[in-house]
Amino acid sequence: MSLVTKLSCVCCGREYAEGQAMTCPTCGLDDGILDVHYDLSRAARTLSRAALAERSCSLWRYRELLPVDGDPPATLANIGWTPLIETPRLARALGIRRLRLKDDGRSASGSFKDRASAIGVARAIQAGARAIACASTGNAASSLAHCAAAVGLPAYIFVSRIVPEGKLAQLLAYGARVFKVRGTYADAYELCMRACEHFGWYNRNCAVNPYLVEGKKTGGLEIAEQCADDPPDWVVCSVGDGCSIAGVHKGLVQMKSIGVIDWEACMLGVQAAGVAPICEAFARCQTASGSDAHGAAGFSLRGAARAEARGSAIGDTYADSINVPVPRNWRKAVAAVRDSAGEFVSVSDEQIMTAVRQTGALAGIFAEPAAAAAVAGITVARELGIIAAGASVVAMITGSGLKDIAGALRAVGEPHEIPPDLEQVVRVIDSETSTSQ
Ligand SMILES: *Cc1c(COP(=O)(O)O)cnc(C)c1O
Ligand SMILES: [Zn+2]
Repeated sequence: MSLVTKLSCVCCGREYAEGQAMTCPTCGLDDGILDVHYDLSRAARTLSRAALAERSCSLWRYRELLPVDGDPPATLANIGWTPLIETPRLARALGIRRLRLKDDGRSASGSFKDRASAIGVARAIQAGARAIACASTGNAASSLAHCAAAVGLPAYIFVSRIVPEGKLAQLLAYGARVFKVRGTYADAYELCMRACEHFGWYNRNCAVNPYLVEGKKTGGLEIAEQCADDPPDWVVCSVGDGCSIAGVHKGLVQMKSIGVIDWEACMLGVQAAGVAPICEAFARCQTASGSDAHGAAGFSLRGAARAEARGSAIGDTYADSINVPVPRNWRKAVAAVRDSAGEFVSVSDEQIMTAVRQTGALAGIFAEPAAAAAVAGITVARELGIIAAGASVVAMITGSGLKDIAGALRAVGEPHEIPPDLEQVVRVIDSETSTSQ
């Protein structure tokens, strides 16, 4: 049995028993996101550092804090426990004392989303589902297709027209049935919801499935454990819908509650300047007083929802994974940053491209644009005086650069095209040596 005790609505606070609801019926599909609660004092009895030292190197090592009964599917045993990589050269370039990158680009399907999909698929199997579905243009879909293939569950994916080729190829290679919907992302989402209802498929859409953020939470549980004796001042996540940063923060908080760590870190949320509704909502919350705060934030997001209704649900950034003009988990993201005494910043596409190059050349990690955005956020937070020069920082690298080769090539420039002639190589090397002097 899992240690889940109840679910609560992030909007009105009403409580529900497990299985009673996926979203709060009072607040509706858009606002009634639920949060999953656990019996933390019971978890603390068995989830100690000594116990963890004996466990598998996967996200299932935290089973007391996961909403899954019994043993997880054996073929999903490889998800989680990604490395935390020390990057002194990148830290120096960004002007901070220390930087560690949590590289989820090396997760099974190449993104942080594998954590959520592993939980989604384990829950689907537990619920006796015969198939699983989601609407996504990107990593949520490819990770779902991967996990579904691993356990032999049919996957149905609804995408809108704009899908980076690498991600589409992954979907098809993993054997998912892909519907490319002629319409907006909102159309694809709506169609997926209706198909799930019609066929009884298990729904992996983050906005309606409160258990997926529990998978993302394992990113925070791992950072807590990997940094237990050497805590960072800041943990940085790029933000689209908002459930990744909320999950990572929840993981850190739960590890403190059960006594595995005794510290907290400030969360830095990073959005693309062209699509920064949560960043803007957070700024409004800071200026509005008390009870007005959420009202002010909600107002701007309802404005965004109207834009979506008109069909303009694609914002202006080339970091496709965080191109989410109408985020549904903004309340959780805002709360995570506020409760951790953190901040939000936004970064331009130009800054994201610089971060793609820096992360590759100075840390040896090829990050997709939405992942490099976290690194760009450190630069901006330094400039604004949010992060101090003496700070120790952990940044989540949420996806591999191989996901979006076209996006990467826009950032990294061209090779030297030359005839097969040593003279030409010498000329290039000489010119580089002279310009770097
Ligand atoms: C989904 C995603 C994010 C953002 O996560 P949200 O939960 O949408 O805020 C960031 N980076 C990558 C690579 C992603 O796939
Ligand atoms: Zn509610």
